[in-house]
Amino acid sequence: MATHKLLLLPGDGIGPEVMAEVRRLVGWLEQRGVADFALEEGLVGGSAYDAHGAAISDADMDRAQAADAVIFGAVGGPKWDPVPYDVRPEAGLLRLRKDLGLFANLRPAICYPALADASALKRELVDGLDILIVRELTGGVYFGEPKEIVTLEDGTKRAVDTQVYSEGEIERIARVAFDLAKVRGNKLASAEKRNVMKTGVLWHQVVSRVHKESYPEVALEHILADNCAMQLVRRPKQFDVLVTDNLFGDILSDIAAMLTGSLGMLPSASLGDVDPATGKRKAMYEPVHGSAPDIAGKGVANPIAMLASFGMAMKYSLGLGELADALDQAIAQVLTEGLRTADIAAPGTNSVSTGEMGGAVIKALEQQLAR
Ligand code: NAD
Repeated sequence: MATHKLLLLPGDGIGPEVMAEVRRLVGWLEQRGVADFALEEGLVGGSAYDAHGAAISDADMDRAQAADAVIFGAVGGPKWDPVPYDVRPEAGLLRLRKDLGLFANLRPAICYPALADASALKRELVDGLDILIVRELTGGVYFGEPKEIVTLEDGTKRAVDTQVYSEGEIERIARVAFDLAKVRGNKLASAEKRNVMKTGVLWHQVVSRVHKESYPEVALEHILADNCAMQLVRRPKQFDVLVTDNLFGDILSDIAAMLTGSLGMLPSASLGDVDPATGKRKAMYEPVHGSAPDIAGKGVANPIAMLASFGMAMKYSLGLGELADALDQAIAQVLTEGLRTADIAAPGTNSVSTGEMGGAVIKALEQQLAR
């Protein structure tokens, strides 16, 4: 059996609390003889700053480079608000994304039937929703140069951000999205604003070419990003895989997230290029939520986003797709059985602890695997 090399970076706040449930699940999988793992653990964010004066150490970066997958908790908290900008907790996350070349951000928005009433939309619009947003993560307007605020001759200021995309950057994210569409509903929507932006014109051209050359069997729809935002709220189930740039992806993935209820439920994956030597992609998996300082240390955080992020690692990095599907079903099962952490519990009803939810997911997984 292959040994999967994982680097766990729990981080700060509730990060270590939810990561403990991943460690428990990994231990259980090994004990049951389903998979073999080699676990390493490192520091990131405020905890790394306290230990090394940096948001992640070079030694931990080396271990991240060597891992089959990095499993990341969350970083930040008021304790580190005063630290210098370049060593603030988030700098650890940005260094991991940059040095590992993680250009594709995958954010599923799944609405479990048991939680459909927690959505801001009507149940019938979101019940059974299963969208995968593929966001370009290392290019576009967040990184383009010039990026500055200058003072003009008349003393007023002018700010510039630059939206820039090369053909290669668009092609590689399009290929990731088409490949994912092929193993899902064979349907891809590509969102840009070709009506007003040159980057949108090039985006449209490149996605169309890649489609024609390599993925003609996938149903491709081009959609303007503003219309896409509207459609996500109006009739979200029309989408399956959605690919878009860094800026639009930031916004559209947050809209999709809110269709599903709580932040404590949302996993994500960030993927890099395939390494020609090993045939594997660099990859990091993390919940969408932050370190939740308001509930840290109380043992009440919802571990589902963290566990589902580990599920994505099993699916996209470790070749354990069936186990990942069983984990998703186990999560759906505990929700159907009525188990709730405080963030997803109806007001006035009982809720369980982080550990109780993690334990229940493992128990449900045992039942799923026995079927
Ligand atoms: P947050 O996601 O930490 O919390 C927002 C709200 O959601 C809080 O009320 C919190 O209690 C709740 N929440 C979040 N995750 C939960 C979970 N698993 N279970 C139950 N409730 C949960 O966002 P914030 O409060 O804006 O930020 C707090 C800190 O986290 C800040 O320092 C911020 O910079 C950092 N942050 C880090 C990341 C990351 O590590 N990727 C992402 C976002 C924010």
